[in-house]
Amino acid sequence: MTAPNGIASTDLFAEVVLNLPADLYLTYAVPDRLAGRLRVGQKVSAPLGGRRVGGFVVAFPAPPPGKTPRPLSDILEEEPLFGSNLVSLINWVSRYYFSSFARAFKTALPAPVRKNIRAVPIIRAGPALSLEETRSAAAELRKKAPRQAALLERLLAEKSGSLPAAELLRLCGASRSSLTALEKKGLINLTASSRYGAGSGEVLATSPLRLTSEQETAFGAIREAIGEDAFRVFLLHGITGSGKTEIYMQAINQVLDRGKSALVLVPEISLTPQIGDWFRGRFGGRVAIVHSAQAEGERADSWRRIASGEARIVLGPRSAVFAPLADPGLIIVDEEHETSYKQSALSPFYHGRDAAVMRGKLENCPVILGSATPSLESYHNQKAGKYTLLTLRTRPEEAMLPTVKIVDMKAERERQKSAVSFSDLLLTAIKDNLDAGLQTILFLNRRGFFTVLTCPECGYVARCRHCSVSLTYHKKTGRQVCHLCGYFEPPPRACPVCRSRKLVFTGRGTQRIEEQVKKIFPAARVRRMDTDSVGRRDSHREILGEFRAGKIDILVGTQMIAKGLDFPNVTLVGVIMADTALSLADFRATEYTYQILTQVAGRAGRGELKGKVIIQTYSPRHPALLAAVRQEYGNFFEKEMRFREELGYPPLNHFVTLTVLSRNEEKSLRVAEHLARRLHPVLEEGDELLGPAPPPINRLRGYYRHQILIKTKGVVSTLRALRKVLSETGRERDLRVEIDVDPISML
Ligand code: ADP
Ligand code: ZN
Ligand code: ZN
Repeated sequence: MTAPNGIASTDLFAEVVLNLPADLYLTYAVPDRLAGRLRVGQKVSAPLGGRRVGGFVVAFPAPPPGKTPRPLSDILEEEPLFGSNLVSLINWVSRYYFSSFARAFKTALPAPVRKNIRAVPIIRAGPALSLEETRSAAAELRKKAPRQAALLERLLAEKSGSLPAAELLRLCGASRSSLTALEKKGLINLTASSRYGAGSGEVLATSPLRLTSEQETAFGAIREAIGEDAFRVFLLHGITGSGKTEIYMQAINQVLDRGKSALVLVPEISLTPQIGDWFRGRFGGRVAIVHSAQAEGERADSWRRIASGEARIVLGPRSAVFAPLADPGLIIVDEEHETSYKQSALSPFYHGRDAAVMRGKLENCPVILGSATPSLESYHNQKAGKYTLLTLRTRPEEAMLPTVKIVDMKAERERQKSAVSFSDLLLTAIKDNLDAGLQTILFLNRRGFFTVLTCPECGYVARCRHCSVSLTYHKKTGRQVCHLCGYFEPPPRACPVCRSRKLVFTGRGTQRIEEQVKKIFPAARVRRMDTDSVGRRDSHREILGEFRAGKIDILVGTQMIAKGLDFPNVTLVGVIMADTALSLADFRATEYTYQILTQVAGRAGRGELKGKVIIQTYSPRHPALLAAVRQEYGNFFEKEMRFREELGYPPLNHFVTLTVLSRNEEKSLRVAEHLARRLHPVLEEGDELLGPAPPPINRLRGYYRHQILIKTKGVVSTLRALRKVLSETGRERDLRVEIDVDPISML
């Protein structure tokens, strides 16, 4: 279908995805003057109606039936921005996740890349001559060219001797021409500096470590697969701190030696700044780090650096699975169990890990899925012989595993005669840790004050106007906020239902825990880290930096602190309430709880000092909790699989959900029922259809939702049935159908 990467095609027709808001791709004829010059991934211009639009060549199809298509206009960029393997991946994503090719294409190629936005270099202005010479030049200019003189004087006042040009001009109210005049006279230098790495600071260069024998065994298997350029998937199951990252880096060395490139996916780069530093320390400028906080121009630039082969290693979140690496020799998915790999806001709802495995297959290279707590899906694939299991059971340098204690909070409540946030055991441990000058992490599985405003008289609870969830009170802003849609309002003074003025705040949250800890330990330095406190771009880095430097004694936080952080001085981890994830109305709740507890516990005792983990809970006998405490993944897996088997849940079957959304509740139900009736007869034998039913969150952002759940052995045939039924169903206003293949949440 497509020409191999880098070879110009002599085909007569080209398929082009157009750069338009509409999802459109068309076939064009290749005019003689472009024949032999066209390649997949090139940016071209093409006629559409009476105008010309930009687009990208994605394929060279056979002659289309019917009328000969119009000819392409021109090549806009000679260098291709992606190759045909990437097109195949986009194709797969669009089919498997029930999206259009053009939509999937837009997800893969971010807008700044498609639109060719370039990073604007910052021009800095600084004096070209010595202080004395510049001073006298400024004095001379004062009469003839007062603006130029002002610019020079402003620069002289600057400690660093230079300023970004735009800022300097703004400060002096001068125009660009004054600056150029100064440059011409040789009085200042204008230098462009790129923003790469801005704010990321210096990193320590590192060299490969001597692998432990366990690491060596795992690495040996991977090295062999790299040498064979063969598609093989490894599940690297290594306890937290067992040195998986070191294996990744040494494997990448092998790949670079073979002249190939490597792709590394991480859950969300802003949450794991350390891994970025480690990679930069080992590989320097050969690493391109992509992340969501990047400015548009930077994103487009790093795409081009990757496509041109200048960057050989790409490190990034989910969307980096589409990075245009030429010739990948290895693909790594770190923390493969993480739910953030699944795109949930916009179609296609693709899973980054599964797309990474598919990319490995298309590129013919090995894939490593790494985790301390593998997803049931991946572990099941390993058991079925699809993936190869590699295990790391110990930490290098004999770092000891922490001791774990479970506190039954029900018993604690009876003893202390009221519901409390802290057990005596945890308080004593924090105090001992403070006295010894060691650091503590307190983990809570929720953000905000998780405080809900309730009326004790009539039971009123403040709810979001657009979603079926209660609002959470945030003390700092004095607002009640919806965590689903962002709606907020001030708390009412009196109950809107019964007019009672005795409204109370109930619940527990990071802010509240932070305050309580400060009250109990007034001398301790306490900081909080959750998605509210790290709104600013670099503040998580700041907080982590302070924590590392020992400027914080107790760090209170949510999931954010559970991930991949490595602090040698943390010897105590307290889990304030382990049950919050268990009570989610979701079939993966147990799996999440197991994962989170294991990850959190892994934060303790990373250095020479033995760590301690204290888990507070109202269900001290829960199997997921006990398995996490004993680090018995196998045991947890067997138990949980039995439960999934009984119900025919994933990974034994695939789920496909159809959600019908409308502002009108009755309409959403009516259409959902209609679709369910039509689907029943066309599904494969053995497929099961459940619903329609309102999901736990039955109203979201003002839309009522009804959900149909299909359990199936084969997604492809189910999607075929869906396509048929949907194409026969008329469109209606105020109605949307969303299809999610392998959903990760049923909320
Ligand atoms: P994981 O990714 O499995 O959680 P890391 O890769 O973060 O584990 O490793 C944990 C710590 O062990 C890091 O500080 C790392 O530098 C160190 N480490 C890894 N491999 C070795 C080794 N072979 N010898 C000594 N230290 C190692
Ligand atoms: Zn809401
Ligand atoms: Zn009331």
